[in-house]
Amino acid sequence: MREYLHFIDGRTVAPGGGAFMVRENPATRTAVASWPAGTAEDVDAAVAAAAAAFADGRWSGLPASRRSEVLRAVSDYLKNNVDALARIESEETGKTFAQASEEIPWAGDIWDYAAGQARAIHGDLHSNLGDDKLALVLKEPAGPVALITPWNYPLVVLSQKLPFALAAGCTVVVKPSEMTSGTTLEIARILKEAGLPDGVFNVVTGTGDPVGQRLAEHPDIRVVSFTGSTATGKKIAAAAAGNMKKVIVELGGKNPFIVFDDANLDAAVDNAIKGFVYNSGAECCSGSRVYVQEGVLQAFTAALCAKLGTVKVGDPFAAETTMGAIISDAHFAKVTGFIEQARSEGRILFGGNSLSGLPGYFIEPTVVADLPASSSVIRDEIFGPVVALLPFKTTADAIAAANATEYGLASSVWTSNLDTATEVGRAVRSGIVWVNTFLDVASEIPIGGIRQSGYGRENGRYAIEEFTVLKTMVIQNSKSVGRYLPL
Ligand code: NDP
Repeated sequence: MREYLHFIDGRTVAPGGGAFMVRENPATRTAVASWPAGTAEDVDAAVAAAAAAFADGRWSGLPASRRSEVLRAVSDYLKNNVDALARIESEETGKTFAQASEEIPWAGDIWDYAAGQARAIHGDLHSNLGDDKLALVLKEPAGPVALITPWNYPLVVLSQKLPFALAAGCTVVVKPSEMTSGTTLEIARILKEAGLPDGVFNVVTGTGDPVGQRLAEHPDIRVVSFTGSTATGKKIAAAAAGNMKKVIVELGGKNPFIVFDDANLDAAVDNAIKGFVYNSGAECCSGSRVYVQEGVLQAFTAALCAKLGTVKVGDPFAAETTMGAIISDAHFAKVTGFIEQARSEGRILFGGNSLSGLPGYFIEPTVVADLPASSSVIRDEIFGPVVALLPFKTTADAIAAANATEYGLASSVWTSNLDTATEVGRAVRSGIVWVNTFLDVASEIPIGGIRQSGYGRENGRYAIEEFTVLKTMVIQNSKSVGRYLPL
C-alpha cells in the first residue's frame, strides 16, 4: 500500500485536519494507496507557496532553456520508468496494465513537446508606428494557476496542462481526482529531483469540495484549468468569477461516429469498438453515438458484434485482457442504470451484463439499437462501455443527427468520398473532427470542445497561450515626447 502526503513548498506535508482517504483497486477491491483528505486551509497553504514562488521569479525569471531542461528531465523519467508508473495507474483506475503502459510514454511525449515549446515563446515588435515610436507585445506568465483533474487518464490529463503551465513560467497547485492521486504525487517527486525550485509545484489531495472548490474561488489563483463533467465545470466557472480568473474547461461529450456506405468497413468497425471499449468507455471523446448509413447497416452490425466477441473483460494485469474495470461502485451503478434503461426502451444487440464471479466492477461492452430519439442513452454522457447504434439515410440526415446535442467535443466521419468528408467535417459542431481515424491525438495537435463541452485548448502551441497574458508596451523617443494634438 502506497502512503502519500500533500506536496507543498517542496516538501511532503500532513493534512491540517489529519484525515486520510484510502483508495481501493476497483478491479480487486483491495486497498492500494492512501492520501490526505485535504482542507481549505491546506489549499491556502499551497496557494501561498505558489504565490510566493511566482512573486520572486524563482521560476519565471529563469531563461526558458533552463525551464525546458527540467521539463525534458521529466519526459525522460516517464519514458524510462513505465512499469512502475503504469502499475500505479492500473491499480488506482482499474484500466489494463497494457493500456496504462502506453499512457506513460504518451504523457512523456507531451512533456518533451512542451519542453521545446518553452523556448519558442516570444512576443511581437511593432516598428511601423512612426520613426519615434516602438511597441512591444510581451507574453508573460499568467501567475499562480490551479489544475483540477479527473480519474479517467490521471497522468495524461495532468500532462496536457502542467508542462505547458510550467513552460509559460507559471507556478501551480493541482487537485487530482480523489480516486487517482498517485501519479500526480509521483510527479511532484520527479519534478523536485529534476531541479524544480520549491513552491513552484504543489499538490493538495482530497474531495472536490472543499479542495477543488477552494482552489476555483481562491483570490490569488489567476487561471483554473479543469477537466471533468460539465456540471462541475459550471460550478468552477461560477466560483472563478469572484476574482475574474481565466477558466479553461475540458468537459464531457456525446460524440457522433458517422459511417457512410462507401467507408472502409473493417476499419470503421475496429475504430467504433475502440470508441467505446478503450478505457472502458471512460473517454471524453468516446464515439458513443454510432450512425450507420442504411446500405451497410446490416453488414456493419454483424461485423461489430462478431468482433466484440473477441474483447476480453477482466483482470487488468492479465496479458489477454482488453478491457479492465469500471472506476467505482457509484460509476458502476450509473452505467448499469443506463443499460437497464436501454433494455426497456430499445434492444440490446450485444452484451448488457455485468460480470459476476470477479471481485471488482466489470461490465460487458454493450451495443444498443432501436432507441427513441428522446432517450437519455442517446443524449447523455454515459462514460462507460455502451454504444447506441443509429441508422441514417442521407448526408443531411447524418449532419442533423450528429448536431442534435448540446455537446461539441469530437466527431468522426468514415467515407472514401472527399466531398462527403469535407461537407460533414465542416458541418458538424465539435472541437475536433476525425476523418477515417478516431481518438487520433498527438502532442502537436490542439484538443478541446465547444458548446457544453467547454472552452480553451490543450496540447499544441495553443496550450501555452492559455497560461500566458499579453502586455503591450509602447515606447516613445523622449526627444519627441509631449506633442499633443487635440482631436
Ligand atoms: P467531476 O467533474 O465530478 O470531477 C472532476 C474533478 O473535479 C475531480 O478532481 C473532482 O474531485 C473535482 N471536483 C468535484 N467537484 C468539484 C467542485 N465543486 N469544485 C472543484 N472541483 C470539483 O467528475 P467525476 O469524477 O465525478 O465523474 C462524473 C462524470 O464526469 C463522468 O461520469 C463523466 O461523465 C464526466 N467526466 C468527464 C471527463 C472528461 O475527460 N471530460 C473526465 C471525468 C469525468 P473528486 O475527485 O473529489 O470528485
